[in-house]
Amino acid sequence: MTRIAVLGSTNMDLVAYVATAPRRGETVTGHEFRTIPGGKGANQAVAAARAGADVALIGAVGTDEFGTRLRAALDGSGVDTDLVRTTEGPSGTAHIVVDAAGGNAIVVIPGANASVTHLGPGDEALIAGAESLLLQLELPMDTVVEGARAARRHGVRTVLTPSPVQPLPPELLAATDLLVANEHEATSLTGLDDAKAAARALLELVPEVVVTLGSRGSLYAARGQDPVAVPAPEVTAVDTTGAGDTFVGALAVALGEGRAMPEALAWASQAAALSVQRPGAVAAMPYRKEIDEASAGAER
Ligand code: ATP
Repeated sequence: MTRIAVLGSTNMDLVAYVATAPRRGETVTGHEFRTIPGGKGANQAVAAARAGADVALIGAVGTDEFGTRLRAALDGSGVDTDLVRTTEGPSGTAHIVVDAAGGNAIVVIPGANASVTHLGPGDEALIAGAESLLLQLELPMDTVVEGARAARRHGVRTVLTPSPVQPLPPELLAATDLLVANEHEATSLTGLDDAKAAARALLELVPEVVVTLGSRGSLYAARGQDPVAVPAPEVTAVDTTGAGDTFVGALAVALGEGRAMPEALAWASQAAALSVQRPGAVAAMPYRKEIDEASAGAER
């Protein structure tokens, strides 16, 4: 089984469902409230575990009840949480208002995620033993850089999701093997409107780039090659939340198993397409068997 380390966030998503989101100073009555374990680090870890990898998360939860639930949710998904610290204080939270049109407004409060200011004892050894390290930007940037460098020292593939989008320090880019950005991130990072042009510009910074384009699939670019379009399976989407994280988790698993990039991208696209057909982020993430079946079906 391929081994994947994730250095990333855990957040409890606090989701209020309303007809119309309140304007400043306004109070509205919603119709539903849910608490859903999330955070990009945790989501990618669960996606990779369900896709069939041995996954460990490096991160932190707080001493509040959300911390207990976040850890339990990860454990329940088969993610190794031995290196998830428990930090005095609140866990990370994402306060989300979803309106009837499916639009949302989100406030993220990092909580325990902000306490991950360095790699801790055992973290580097864990990274060294993995095939890939998955990174996002919901932990302090210095720690993300430290993790990427540790992976580089041990010849471990680094896969970076630049979310939330922000300027990427040269030290991080220098230690990144594969950047997987959605269209918004790719265009924001480069200032270019066109995804293909953005992919080409990002290739100046890292050796391999994937730009995901929602229902339009994705673009893969490697140095010295023209960007290649990867189609998305045609499905009826009910909720695309977490599609990007599902895609990254599955892609890392396929690459870790030694599949060539085109085949790995096709398999990850099947995984992401399964996730958009069901509600929720983690709740919608497919298991290995389902991804294999969908892939076999697509080949017939
Ligand atoms: P999110 O933030 O919702 O998790 P994202 O914006 O990071 O997602 P997207 O580009 O929307 O990422 O989607 C990632 C991948 O998921 C796409 O490249 C595609 O393979 C798949 N996908 C997304 N939406 C659809 C869809 N409607 N139909 C089929 N596949 C989809």
